[in-house]
Amino acid sequence: MSHSLESLFVDAARAAARYRDSLDDLQPVPGIPDGAFGTDLPPAGTPASTVLAELVATATPGLQPSVGPRFFGFVIGGALPAASAADLLVTGWDQNAFTPALTPAGAQVEATVGQWMKQLLGLPADASVGLVTGTQAANTTGLACGRHRVLAQVGHDVEADGLLGAPRLRVVASRERHATIDRSARLLGLGTNSIVEVAAGPNGAMDLDDLARVLAAEPDFPTIVCLQAGNVNTGAVDDLRRGAELGHAVGAWVHVDGAFGLFAAASPTTRHLTDGLESADSWGTDGHKWLNTPHDCGFAIVADPDLHALVMSYQASYLTGASRTSGMGAHTPESSRRARGFPVWAALRELGRDGVAALIESNCRLARRFAHDLASAGMEIGNDVVLNQVLVSYGADEVTDAVIAGVQAGGVCWMGGTTWRGRRWMRISVANHLTSDRDVDLSVAEILRVLREVTA
Ligand SMILES: *Cc1c(COP(=O)(O)O)cnc(C)c1O
Repeated sequence: MSHSLESLFVDAARAAARYRDSLDDLQPVPGIPDGAFGTDLPPAGTPASTVLAELVATATPGLQPSVGPRFFGFVIGGALPAASAADLLVTGWDQNAFTPALTPAGAQVEATVGQWMKQLLGLPADASVGLVTGTQAANTTGLACGRHRVLAQVGHDVEADGLLGAPRLRVVASRERHATIDRSARLLGLGTNSIVEVAAGPNGAMDLDDLARVLAAEPDFPTIVCLQAGNVNTGAVDDLRRGAELGHAVGAWVHVDGAFGLFAAASPTTRHLTDGLESADSWGTDGHKWLNTPHDCGFAIVADPDLHALVMSYQASYLTGASRTSGMGAHTPESSRRARGFPVWAALRELGRDGVAALIESNCRLARRFAHDLASAGMEIGNDVVLNQVLVSYGADEVTDAVIAGVQAGGVCWMGGTTWRGRRWMRISVANHLTSDRDVDLSVAEILRVLREVTA
């Protein structure tokens, strides 16, 4: 082994670990100027160790501490120690997870983590699992499979003939669906006008009576029903059992977008929220959110493995025998791919089933604490905190926005904002294994400090 490669890798790992260790006391992010990494392409090369040192020095002031314990913006998991270390190995090993011929170990680990994910979430044992970049790719995969199935039911082969001359189909989804559904519809040639909106109930879950009404209005229309586990604002989970029943009664394909909310199924305390999830046809979920794997990592899961492979795989003259992609590249929209099964394996191995359950339970409890403590201080909580999402108002929209901006600038904790039902809210997502009661205490104190400043 080349000594210089070893010292380079060690230096990189050390820099990454130092950064991660510094995150308990979040500081305001100093910021990074435009062009910090240069403007004109350097003509000459630079020694690797210099490149690394330059990179660490230049990037660090512009790193958002989203992996730290008091980052509550978006829905961002905190990559687990073993999973992060495994991801360093993925980079070093540099396997191509396209086919078992290129990575026998990568193929085996994907098979195992596919099994484990299905066991963790209570999904059908024979469903196929593609490891993708995130739920965007997983939703696209699920909807692509649905597109195939519902058009095949009316005699059209979309894989061969595309959408030209195809019967129309519709994607029935909640008014409060995630925006990635719209992009998937665009990518798949369905267009956003194919989306038929269903009303959402008080806490943001789909109104199933409205779903029944929409489906009954045109029962023969080729239809994909897109349900949601985990509304990005409120955390609400649709009634998956009844939603799937209603969809299947009219021959629809039923997809569940469960980027983070599907993990409610991994804890006995929240499992009831996802009752019936196994009756869907496809599911999308993330590793890099609630499972706390490093970015990027998602799972495209389909109940019918043959259909999954029919829709997502391709054939080429060099793909025979062990070179075939089955189980790897056959289930993903990507061709060459990072071996992200290793960090998923490490995360699931590090936590075990009980550890994942404890993570979900703890994050949900801390979300309820945020709601309780801020409500006790007189703030309005906008949602019923069923999972890990909390919406908080500090009065008028301008005041809420000012509090959010002040908190983001303060460097103690980081919360994002959102518009929900016509009003501005601070959106708190708890999704990191490091987050503790102390982090909630520090964050609530900081929020109230900023509020006093804003209203002074
Ligand atoms: C985050 C999220 C997505 C998109 O996931 P990516 O990992 O960003 O691709 C889709 N749906 C829901 C409900 C989400 O929360």
